Amino acid sequence: MTERTNLLNFTLPGLTEWFATQGEKAFRAKQVFQWIHQRGVADFDAMTDLAKSLREKLKSIAEVRPPAILSEHRSADGTVKWLFDVGVGNGIETVFIPEDDRGTLCVSSQVGCALDCKFCSTGRQGFNRDLSQSEIVGQLWVANKRLEEMEAEGIAARIAPRRDKPARDSDMSLSPRPVTNVVMMGMGEPLNNFKPVVDSMSVMLDDLAYGLSRRRVTLSTSGVVPHIRKLKEALPVALAVSLHAPNDEIRSRIMPINDAYPIATLLDACRDYLEVAPRDFITFEYVMLKGVNDAPDHARELVRTLADVPSKVNLIPFNPFPDSGFERTDAERVRRFQQILLDAGFVATVRRTRGDDIDAACGQLAGQVVNRMKRKPVHFHTQPPRS
Ligand code: SAH
Ligand code: SF4
Repeated sequence: MTERTNLLNFTLPGLTEWFATQGEKAFRAKQVFQWIHQRGVADFDAMTDLAKSLREKLKSIAEVRPPAILSEHRSADGTVKWLFDVGVGNGIETVFIPEDDRGTLCVSSQVGCALDCKFCSTGRQGFNRDLSQSEIVGQLWVANKRLEEMEAEGIAARIAPRRDKPARDSDMSLSPRPVTNVVMMGMGEPLNNFKPVVDSMSVMLDDLAYGLSRRRVTLSTSGVVPHIRKLKEALPVALAVSLHAPNDEIRSRIMPINDAYPIATLLDACRDYLEVAPRDFITFEYVMLKGVNDAPDHARELVRTLADVPSKVNLIPFNPFPDSGFERTDAERVRRFQQILLDAGFVATVRRTRGDDIDAACGQLAGQVVNRMKRKPVHFHTQPPRS
């Protein structure tokens, strides 16, 4: 039997084109797209406004196949973590973080990562492969569906964002779905898997799919400068940049990519991106590493480095993992660092930890299928940037 076409691999224009090659009209593609993404329906038989003959045809040549769930964990604080099967040794992880007024999903873009940042356990794994569009947008598809099922079962009262504000920015006729914000901050460097990531995000933004605004979708990058420029043209969503150091010397030591794109080049690209960004600042992520980048002098140098880029700094407590060679900066020192930034007029936040009890750590998700025989790293969950 020939393989069925997975419709999760299409944007709406792509699906429309594929329908045309099947001799089907564009409005049918639109209907199917809405069934899949707005209603979370995978079964063609349930797409009741399609002709029976079309449903039969789709059943024989197409499918809606997200990555399969290997495990699901719910934290006492409402955080949910899924491990997905992507057909290789390690799975990929996706985390949902509920807050009062939003539900944020942290999505992975690659299996492993080639960029080798020294403090990152995904980097430690090395690069395995890129995820396809169906595997990226599929994380959102599954998360919404599972969370709705949990809500229906009454076990997830804490999961749903407050309903006094519409969770969607568009199409208020549909009931709001649990995931209101997406951060591309799971495993992998999203800009190194450009097309599937951009196509996935365009589905997230599509009013006929998830209808999220560009402000509610944040891409986090280690600073792949040419691709930041490409993203500006393709789909300028909110941007978070992993800076982690006030100068090139420290940054190159912990992030090899800095040798290719040093801080001045990176900040140029950030300023350029701001011309079209949905927000008027760039979020800079800064992992606090004890004795490496966490001194008051580093904070003062950071103030000078970021002086002419409208920015928000998000200080991240380091998530330790075995043999990382780094330690977490203590809370008091983090506060001191933060205060220097605040005194200089910056917006500076410290991420709260979430989901400690289920090893959920946005930004440090390392599928633990292969590693499960080893001692488990101590993970905690970090809060995504506010939007
Ligand atoms: N590759 C992208 C997105 C995934 S990593 C990037 O690097 O931005 C998401 C965030 O988690 C990044 O800011 C990354 O630097 C951070 N991170 C990685 N390892 C971490 C760790 N051990 N503790 C805390 N944050 C970490
Ligand atoms: Fe890759 Fe980001 Fe980890 Fe660096 S921090 S190794 S870019 S996933």
